[in-house]
Amino acid sequence: ASTQSDRSGDSARFIADHVIGLPRSGIRDFFAIVAQMPQAISLGIGEPDFVTPWHIREAAIYALERGKTSYTDNMGLIGLRREISSYVERDFHVSYSPEKEVLVAVGVSEALDLALRAIVNPGDKVLFHQPCYVSYSPSIKLTHGVAVPIPTSDEDAFALNPQKLRECWEPGCKVLVLNFPTNPTGGTVDRKTLEEIAAFAKEKDLLVLSDEIYAELTFEGEHVSIASLPGMRERTIFLHGFSKAYAMTGFRIGYACGPAPLIEAMMKVHQYSMLCAPILSQEAATEALRNGQSAMEKMRDQYRDRRDFLVARFNEAGLKCHLPRGTFYTFADIRATGLDEMTFAKKLLSEEEVAVVPGTAFGESGKGFIRASFSTSFNRLREAADRIGRFAERHTS
Ligand code: PLP
Repeated sequence: ASTQSDRSGDSARFIADHVIGLPRSGIRDFFAIVAQMPQAISLGIGEPDFVTPWHIREAAIYALERGKTSYTDNMGLIGLRREISSYVERDFHVSYSPEKEVLVAVGVSEALDLALRAIVNPGDKVLFHQPCYVSYSPSIKLTHGVAVPIPTSDEDAFALNPQKLRECWEPGCKVLVLNFPTNPTGGTVDRKTLEEIAAFAKEKDLLVLSDEIYAELTFEGEHVSIASLPGMRERTIFLHGFSKAYAMTGFRIGYACGPAPLIEAMMKVHQYSMLCAPILSQEAATEALRNGQSAMEKMRDQYRDRRDFLVARFNEAGLKCHLPRGTFYTFADIRATGLDEMTFAKKLLSEEEVAVVPGTAFGESGKGFIRASFSTSFNRLREAADRIGRFAERHTS
């Protein structure tokens, strides 16, 4: 007879099919190896190397001292929602009611998940441009949607080409996920291209989920939100957060702004799952919006200098690299070495102890590329660039 412990051995049989079907993140496996190598220089990370500015941390400490340890309104603290509403109106030129059209979530990650869960019926198709943030495709699949990637390419500097969008569209597409500036390529689109994308969204009646988490880390040119274009507000959910620009990844605060019925639908899911975002983090985020602008701009200026340095060094090494117009990532073409991206990343790690991410971790169209992040101090970046230069020379015939 089988005993309790016999049966616990095959507990994997309880796991749902849609989870078994999810790929393991290639980045996780790779960085498990990097974690064992403390001497390695990692250009793999997708988060700021800066510590959250002190006055923002202090706001969390002060809130704790005042005994702010409760749940908040499901939508988030009204003071924070008011700050978000003013900020989005001032910098993104779209107006949202803090009472009904702003929802505070546990990072853009939760906001994106809520939007998909509130919008996608089983079998609905969701378009998104690729290479892209690793979570998009799994998040779509977890909501039983069908992921429809739109490849972007080197020739377009990894900006979404509206013609490609048209070619990839198929009947049953309901949602278009956009991310400008883009993780992992640093690509973005100009106003004219965004207008063409918006016209297509209207033509095909698509809802747009616009993940603008890197908006403040735009180095040149204006950042335009698709939500601000004529007729787009009513079919766009604007997603933004504090992780990147304010170096607040661990606080886990993001938000969604959109037409009241859509935010209400997201709120329904949120109130039965997360309830609310942590109160201390919401207090810190409020401070970030009230007084964090200059600290944020200083970090951005440092990213810009590091970007210029790293891009120049990649190009000198024969690894062609577009100038990313935003984010803290470079996406370098490694085809000159004759190595595929996974072999390149593994060999670079074992021979020179520098970690980068293979481009295919972000989708098939990342083939032949690697992502290197410049959220690392200048000293370490300089050392990494020397090592990459040596490596490229050795492997380029
Ligand atoms: N969206 C993009 C494009 C990202 O690159 C990331 C993190 O790397 C996120 C969302 C997740 O952000 P958050 O920390 O707010 O959940």
